[in-house]
Amino acid sequence: MALYNDSKFLAHNTDKAFTVEHNPGAKPPHSGIYRCMGCGKEIVAEESRQFPPQNHHEHSPAQGKIRWRMIVYADHDPK
Ligand SMILES: [Zn+2]
Repeated sequence: MALYNDSKFLAHNTDKAFTVEHNPGAKPPHSGIYRCMGCGKEIVAEESRQFPPQNHHEHSPAQGKIRWRMIVYADHDPK
């Protein structure tokens, strides 16, 4: 699970981008922390740099395929 220290640097947000699951090798639409919905592994992904390939890590049959979901958005353009 992603951890943080100071809550003033994170804000709750309900954007649909947090609900989309992405396949291995796809290009992330946003930079941030992504969680594998099969096993819980987290990675940092950069916008337009491909997610790791399917063989990035092993899953049991019950965990299904690797699919990445953004859990923390990195704001490159703060207001
Ligand atoms: Zn996984």
